[in-house]
Amino acid sequence: MHIPFCRRKCPYCSFFSETSLDRIPIFLKSLYREIELSRSFFSAFDTIYIGGGTPSVLAAGHLENILNHVLRSFCISSGAEITLEINPADACLDYLKSLAKLGFNRLNIGVQSFDDHALSFLGRRHDRKQALHSINAAFEAGFDNVGIDLIYGIPGQDMPLWLDGLRQAVSLHPCHLSCYQLTIESDTPLGRRYKEKAFAMPSEDEHYNFFMATSEFLESHGYIHYEVSNFAKGMALSSLHNQKYWAHTPYLGLGPSAHSFDGGKRWWNYRSISEYIKALGKGSLPIEDSETLTEEQWKLETVFLGLRTARGIHLPGFSRRYRCELLSGGNISKTNKKAAKFLEIKDDYLCPTRAGLAVADGLASILCFNTFSLKLI
Ligand code: SF4
Repeated sequence: MHIPFCRRKCPYCSFFSETSLDRIPIFLKSLYREIELSRSFFSAFDTIYIGGGTPSVLAAGHLENILNHVLRSFCISSGAEITLEINPADACLDYLKSLAKLGFNRLNIGVQSFDDHALSFLGRRHDRKQALHSINAAFEAGFDNVGIDLIYGIPGQDMPLWLDGLRQAVSLHPCHLSCYQLTIESDTPLGRRYKEKAFAMPSEDEHYNFFMATSEFLESHGYIHYEVSNFAKGMALSSLHNQKYWAHTPYLGLGPSAHSFDGGKRWWNYRSISEYIKALGKGSLPIEDSETLTEEQWKLETVFLGLRTARGIHLPGFSRRYRCELLSGGNISKTNKKAAKFLEIKDDYLCPTRAGLAVADGLASILCFNTFSLKLI
């Protein structure tokens, strides 16, 4: 569920959100309508994820109303993973305690950094002190499953500084860490400053080194590197919700710009609060467009998404589903020696190595898709 509001826009962010918080009441009315209109789409849900935007701009009472509408309209399994994204600046203890009472059982905190210079470069509205407080307060409020987001590759952040941030993170015992590389989007204020050469970004080699050092550091501290950007203290604490995207599991998206998938077709909502409200005001779903993937697109996505996860792709399952072999000869080194640096076979799964995860977005493209044999290009 996408809550499209933020108290202010971070200059690097290209997610859809607005700062006009006075529109929250009318947005919520439309969201409740969308929930009601979507009630027949799926039979049951075992995860709920409220993200954004900044869902923690909503009062606990708003979130309670949202959950009540969801519970009235959908079948939610008992023990479902119910996550809320929060901004450290909103993490006061009483608020977090109310969230725990409402039934949220997983918090994902947008810490991004423990360094005040980096936070100021990113234009975040919290500082290091609030970042530290938010994690401790989440545990104190009764959450057992607390995850944090961190960003590396921020100009001015060298490797010792980044590793120091990771050290601080693990000392607070989060159950889950998502570590993202800062990417510059051209249509953001940061993108425009970058174009004017106001600052330099780390080179590709430096990014690779950040990635490898992060993976080595967190694995040596007991975290499983289970997806390109994601680490968990055991697979039971991995994000069940996010794994659905990588496994092509159907999901329903609600709110402006949210995407949905029913196992065959994808559709997405208007990326505009006004359009969203207008459509629902007329009693229609706020769907902007949809697509149905061809068999070739399915194959490509299965490879692309599967190779983002440490588990990889189940080779017999792939050949059953697509009636073709992913590996010619069934052996990586026989097919291409260079590929062995990035890919390995474990128990019938084709998995990325740590170096493979570092280049996961390119792995699918270094596979030759017309024959589906491994060939580095
Ligand atoms: S708080 Fe999050 S969603 Fe909002 S502008 Fe910043 S990065 Fe984007």
